[in-house]
Parts: sequence; C-alpha cells; structure tokens
Amino acid sequence: MRIPVIPLLVPVLGLWSCTAQLPVAADAEAAAARELVTQNVNAALYQNASAEVAWLYEQGYAHARLKLNANLAVPDSLPPAVIVDVDETVLDNSPYELENIRAGRGYSPETWKAWTARAEAKPLPGALDFLNYAVSRGCSVFYITNRDADELEVTIANLAGQGFPMADKEHVLTMQGTSDKTARRDSVRRTHRVVLLVGDQLTDFDQVLKDRSADLGLPSMYMMSSRLSQSFILLPNSTYGYWRDGITGKGAAVEKRDRVRSFIEQRVR
Ligand SMILES: [Mg+2]
Repeated sequence: MRIPVIPLLVPVLGLWSCTAQLPVAADAEAAAARELVTQNVNAALYQNASAEVAWLYEQGYAHARLKLNANLAVPDSLPPAVIVDVDETVLDNSPYELENIRAGRGYSPETWKAWTARAEAKPLPGALDFLNYAVSRGCSVFYITNRDADELEVTIANLAGQGFPMADKEHVLTMQGTSDKTARRDSVRRTHRVVLLVGDQLTDFDQVLKDRSADLGLPSMYMMSSRLSQSFILLPNSTYGYWRDGITGKGAAVEKRDRVRSFIEQRVR
C-alpha cells in the first residue's frame, strides 16, 4: 500500500513548525513582559514614595473643598452629593504595584483580587478629611468604582475600616458589566445634585474622555475644560490608566512593548 505523501507531510510539518516557534515566541513574550515591568518602576516609586505625589493629593483635596463650597452656594432642590472613584482616588494601591515589580510580573485580575481581598489599602492624603467635610456640609458620598461586583464586600470593608463615611452597599457602586460609569453617575443624579466629582482618570468625569485616538485625548480634554474646572478634581496616577492604554493599546506584551518603542520614536522625531 502506498503511503500518501502530502497528507502525511502536512501534519508533520505543521507539528514541526509549532514546536520550533512556540519556545521562541514564549521567550519573546516573557522578555517583553519583563521590559514592561521595568518601565513601571519609576512610576510606581513616584506614586508610592514621593512627597510630591502626597502633596498633589493634598492639593487636589484642598482644591476640592474650595470647589465644593462654591458649588454648594448655588441653591438646588435636590440634596447634594459628591462622587468619588476608589482606586488611586481615595485608596492607595501602590503597594500592589511594588509587589508586582518585586515578583517581576504585571497586573493580572488574579493578583489584583488577591490584593483587594486583603482590604488593607491605605487612604490617600487628604481624602478622609475631604469626604468627612463634605458630609459635614450635608453631602452624600457615592463611591463609583470599576472594581468588580464580587469585590464589593472587601471594598466596603477596606473603606469602612479606614473610616471613610457612607461606605455601604447603597453608596459603593461597583462595575456592572461595563467600565463605563455613565449609568451609575446618572443613577445618583436621579436623586441628588452632584456638586463635585473626584477621580484619577478623566473618565471619572465623562466617558467621552476615554477616547485617546485623536492626539491622545488632549483636544477633547480641552474642549471640556470649562465643565472640568467647574466640578471635577483630577488626582495623579503615574502607574496605569487610559493615558497609558492610549500608548500601549491592548494585546500581548510584545505588542505593547513595540507600541511604546514606536511611540517614543515618533515623539523624538
Ligand atoms: Mg481610579
């Protein structure tokens, strides 16, 4: 019986090419992942350990107090509320970033949830004083976070354990299928007048600002500058966010690393 050559060769060659290429691709991916971790070191140190970032938070919350006072001076029939984000707005997760760097790994949902389950993130400078002040001025506080619904209990435990006001199921609104916070903000606006929003991402104010396709989002940010000035306080986050996604994009570490390299090439031309 003659052995059909071509049908046998195809699977054999296919197997050969898989076994020959996989280790190379895996090595390249691991190297790119390590490079991305290294790129995050200074950002994480700045976020975790600099007096400059501590002061930026203090400054932001001092400014928040002035804005709150000004906006509360305008009468309204609805009761007032303040909306704050959680991560890198009222809670500091920079220890998680440093743990990742020590372990030579990047963010993953598994390690992130292991971190939030510890419920030991500390308040960011100025956050507690500001929110307690807002409550003393008659405001409700709503925490709108893109933590998952299954992180609700530990998030409330973390916030309440650190003394944050109104940290309960009525006021902590986790992600429900989408990272877009618009519907959750609207649900607060049905019963309250939102006098101020605070976050570390521009999308904590308006989802339109997620889009970084045009000049990394600068034009849309400036177009919204009047509304931003009126009722939003932005806090610093050097380690992650849509600003960085706009450069790295999504996908494999190799792709992200290469996009960072070509972005820098474009910037220095
Ligand atoms: Mg945040």
